[in-house]
Amino acid sequence: MARQTERRIWNKAAECMDREQLRELQSERLRAVVQREYENVPMYRERMQAKGLTPFDIRTVDDLRYLPFTEKTDLRDQYPYGLFAAPRQEIVRIQGSSGTTGKPIVAGYTARDIENWSEMVARAVTAAGGTNESIIQVTYGYGLFTGGLGLHQGASKVGAQVIPMSSGNTARQLMMMEDLGTNILCCTPSYALFLGETLRENGVNPKERLQMKAGIFGAEPWTEEMRQRIEELFEIDALDIYGLTEIAGPGVAFECLEKHGMHVNEDHVIPEIIDPVTEEPLPYGSKGELVFTTITKEGMPMLRYRTHDICQLDATPCACGRTFVRMARITGRTDDMLIIRGVNVFPSQIESVLVNVKGVAPHYMLVVDRVNATDQLEVQVEVTEEAFSDTVSGMERLTREIQEKLKSVIGLSARIKLVAPKTIPRSEGKAKRIVDNRKL
Ligand code: AMP
Ligand code: ZN
Repeated sequence: MARQTERRIWNKAAECMDREQLRELQSERLRAVVQREYENVPMYRERMQAKGLTPFDIRTVDDLRYLPFTEKTDLRDQYPYGLFAAPRQEIVRIQGSSGTTGKPIVAGYTARDIENWSEMVARAVTAAGGTNESIIQVTYGYGLFTGGLGLHQGASKVGAQVIPMSSGNTARQLMMMEDLGTNILCCTPSYALFLGETLRENGVNPKERLQMKAGIFGAEPWTEEMRQRIEELFEIDALDIYGLTEIAGPGVAFECLEKHGMHVNEDHVIPEIIDPVTEEPLPYGSKGELVFTTITKEGMPMLRYRTHDICQLDATPCACGRTFVRMARITGRTDDMLIIRGVNVFPSQIESVLVNVKGVAPHYMLVVDRVNATDQLEVQVEVTEEAFSDTVSGMERLTREIQEKLKSVIGLSARIKLVAPKTIPRSEGKAKRIVDNRKL
């Protein structure tokens, strides 16, 4: 959409910093965070010692490559507080996300961490044209998920009028959008598409009845085609925002109105691209796995966190004037994590539920689809010979039990399809358990 809003930059001194100066700032902050981890987090101290490293060996960003990696499983193993690097009295917030099995992963923030995270999101809001005159509707979920509170804090920092809608209730979302005169909508791209389609089905012409100018959409992968469609439906600029709980939440990177990749907030995080197999760092422009080191976080800093998201970094100058590198859209993952309705789901989580249900065998298939712009998950699972001969009401009880247990572990409702014993195809190699029919 060409309807461009006034181009402001939230923090020019940081966002347009000379890259040499940025490198120095990053090196200084990296030294401090490595020291902090070494002193406060036994896991990091032990891993550095195992590599024969002391904090004094890490002098500049070039030394980053010597540091150990961090994986999501480390957050699971150290759950809940093992990776915290600040004393309990300084932690003012917990946020969380899905882990690889039953337990979530949690992140702790100090007051300064919340300040910095808000600053990162404020930059994204400003890049989308948000000011203290804006009315911003936050339709990401509020709670442990970082989306709702993250966008809320960033929009508040800009001084906008924030409407904390949280997710769901489409009719009410659209009513508030119209009545209150929302200018910027923040939600997942798939929900934006659904809202837009519903709006048009209701015969609303956004030019006449809405005040919408932009959208800040993220938390799941989307495409240029989806962008175009959302922009047409609402007549807005639709911008991408990226983040993850382990690093801060949304706002790790954000798109400017050039719509040519997301600027990484490099004064707070250092991005790297690595070859996911050899784990060697790759130069800018190569496609690989994105890795982040946080350099200002106090509560739960991360050294070389492997996101398993696949993308590219671009360090060429951007027409907007920001000097931070841009990351391309996420094109895939190096693991089997699915994002369903904005929620991270690992097949291993589902498996951990199924193995604990009497009457089903651990043979299952996950079928994901997108109906009316909404993701649907179907779990097909084999029942045991014994349960198979049960009554209809017995089967219904089993279905309900799985549904409830799954809901409590992955936080999503799934359709459960019980199938006869030995009907899920057996594989000779790696089991293929996922059929993703979504056309992104
Ligand atoms: P969570 O910690 O629950 O917010 O999940 C973080 C993950 O969501 C990331 O590692 C990505 O896989 C995905 N994600 C977040 N934002 C985006 C985005 N803009 N595009 C694609 N994937 C995203
Ligand atoms: Zn830019």
